[in-house]
Amino acid sequence: MGNCIFCKIINGEIPSQKVYEDDVVFAFKDISPEAPFHILIVPKCHIRNINEINNDNSHIIAHIFEVINKITVEQGIDKDGYRVVSNCGEHGGQTVDHLHFHLLGGRNLAWPPG
Ligand code: 5GP
Ligand code: ZN
Repeated sequence: MGNCIFCKIINGEIPSQKVYEDDVVFAFKDISPEAPFHILIVPKCHIRNINEINNDNSHIIAHIFEVINKITVEQGIDKDGYRVVSNCGEHGGQTVDHLHFHLLGGRNLAWPPG
């Protein structure tokens, strides 16, 4: 999508610290980390947010969670635990309109969030 920063990160127009990439998924470090370990996992195709997940694209979401499993093992945060968050829409605090999953770990995370 023309002006989407995450589409630009995926196609290399905007630099990022890549953690993982395959045909359908891209993962990179959040520019403003909220935890020692904070990465964003995004589909390569532009899906706006959870509201746009449907029968045609939900296989990508399943794949994203397989990738998250892989990354947490590689990074050694699977045993201690971590959090996966996807903010949706204005009340959900979504600031970038390209579906993304925050993967946070490396410290004890407070709950509930603010
Ligand atoms: P949201 O607020 O939409 O749930 O999450 C957007 C996230 O994207 C924020 O945590 C923010 O720090 C991150 N972010 C915004 N712009 C950039 C960027 O240009 N590069 C990277 N790596 N992260 C970004
Ligand atoms: Zn996009």
